[in-house]
Amino acid sequence: WLNALTSLWLERLRGRGLMSGSRTEQRLSGAAAGGGNSGTQSSGGRCTMKKNSYDVALVGGGIVGLATARELILRHPMLSFVLLEKEKELSVHQSGHNSGVIHSGIYYTPGSLKARLCVRGATLAYEYCEKKGLPYKRCGKLIVAVEQEEIPRLKALYERGLQNNVRDLSIVDAKGIREREPYCRGIMALDSPYTGIVDWRMVALQYGTDFKEAGGTVVTEYEVNDISMATESPAGSTEGMKYPIALRDKQGNEIRCRYVLTCGGLYSDRLSQISGCSREPRIVPFRGDYLVLKPEKHYLVKGNIYPVPDPRFPFLGVHFTPRMDGSIWLGPNAVLAFKREGYKVYDFNARDLADALSFRGPAGVRAQALDRDGNLVDDFVFDGGVGDVASRVLHVRNAPSPAATSSLAIGEMIADEVESRFTL
Ligand SMILES: Cc1cc2nc3c(=O)[nH]c(=O)nc-3n(C[C@H](O)[C@H](O)[C@H](O)COP(=O)(O)OP(=O)(O)OC[C@H]3O[C@@H](n4cnc5c(N)ncnc54)[C@H](O)[C@@H]3O)c2cc1C
Repeated sequence: WLNALTSLWLERLRGRGLMSGSRTEQRLSGAAAGGGNSGTQSSGGRCTMKKNSYDVALVGGGIVGLATARELILRHPMLSFVLLEKEKELSVHQSGHNSGVIHSGIYYTPGSLKARLCVRGATLAYEYCEKKGLPYKRCGKLIVAVEQEEIPRLKALYERGLQNNVRDLSIVDAKGIREREPYCRGIMALDSPYTGIVDWRMVALQYGTDFKEAGGTVVTEYEVNDISMATESPAGSTEGMKYPIALRDKQGNEIRCRYVLTCGGLYSDRLSQISGCSREPRIVPFRGDYLVLKPEKHYLVKGNIYPVPDPRFPFLGVHFTPRMDGSIWLGPNAVLAFKREGYKVYDFNARDLADALSFRGPAGVRAQALDRDGNLVDDFVFDGGVGDVASRVLHVRNAPSPAATSSLAIGEMIADEVESRFTL
C-alpha cells in the first residue's frame, strides 16, 4: 500500500514538473554593529558592549556556519569571532526546513567529500546529541526495491555503502521488509539501522549556544551586502589597519575583520561575487514540498522508507520520514523554485491520497550549485580567490544534503582549511 502510494505520488510529481502559486517569504534586514544601533548582538548568551572589529567574521547562521563558528572558537579561544545573520533568528532557511534525517552515508561517491564527511558527521552528530541531551531517534531506514529492474541499482548502493564504511548495512528480502515495516511491500531492500532522525534546527541552535558560551558574538538582522578592503582604520581604533576587511550592510554599517568565511546557503554565489571571487558555481533553488500523514495513519510507518533513487534525478526520492514530534512526512519532491527562500504551499488535490494525507505540509528550498555547463555540482565545494579581499575570504559554495548530518565534520574540515590558508 505504501509503495503504491509512493509510486502514485512520484508519478504525479513527474507529471507536474514546474508549478506556480502563492509564496511566503520573509526577509529582514537591519543595521548592527559599526555605526548603527539596531540588530541583535549577543556574546556569551548576554548583550555586550558594541565592538566592531574581529579576527574572523562568519556570514550565515545556518547549521554549516554555526558548526564552523563553534569549531573555530573552540580551537582558537584567544581570537575574536563574529557571526552575521541576515534574519532575525538563526537557522530559519535550509537548516530549519529539511527532512531531519541523520544520513548514514550510503549514496555518495566513494572518496568524495560528501561520503567522507557524512559518515564521520553522523557519528559526531550522535555523540553530540548524547553529550548535549538533544533528542534523536535511531529509527533506521529501508531503501525498498519494488520492481526487478531496481535490484541491480539496490545492490550497487549496498556495495557503495560498504565502500563508504557505512555501519551495519544489510540486504533483506520481502520477509525482512515486512519484519521491519509491517505495512511496506517490496521485493528487496537495503536496511540501514544506523540512520536516524533529529531536529536539525535544534542542533544548529545548540552549536550557536556553544559558540556564544565560548565568547563568540552573534549579530542577527545584519545582511552583508558588500565585502571590500577598508580604506581607513575604524573610528577610535588604536590598532590602525589590523582589520583590513570591511563587511557592510545596506545601511552602510560596517564590521571589520581580518578574515571572512561565508556559509550563505542559497546566497553563497552572491556572497562569493561581492567578495571578488567567482560567481560560479551558481545556486539554483529547488523547492521540496512535503505531505503530512494523518495521525490515525502513523502506525503505517516505523522508520524512514526510501525508494531506490532514480538515476534520472539528482535527489534521493520521495520518502516517508518520521519526525521528532511524532508526525510522519512524505516528501520532498524537487521542483525548480522561483524564489531562493520561497516556501509556498503545494497545491495538490489527488483524491486517492485524501484518506491518508493532509495537504498542507511544510516545504524547504535546497541550495543546489550548477556549473558553467549547466550540470548539477554533486559534491560539497569550498573555495576562495586571489586579490586583496578574495585571498582573505573562504566560501562554502555548495553544501546540499547531507550537509546537516555532516555539519560537525564540515566544521572540522573548514577549520583545517582556515588554519592552512590564513595566518590566524
Ligand atoms: C527539503 C530539504 C531536505 C533536506 N533533508 C536533509 C536531511 O534529511 N538530512 C541532512 O543531513 N540534510 C538535509 N538537507 C540539507 C540541509 O538542510 C542543508 O544542507 C543545510 O541545512 C545547509 O546549511 P547551510 O548553513 O549551508 O545553509 P542555510 O541553513 O540555508 O543557512 C544559510 C544562512 O545564511 C544566511 N545568509 C545568506 N546570505 C546572507 C547575507 N548576505 N548576510 C547574512 N546572512 C546571510 C541565511 O539567512 C541563512 O540563515 C535538506 C535540505 C532541504 C532543503
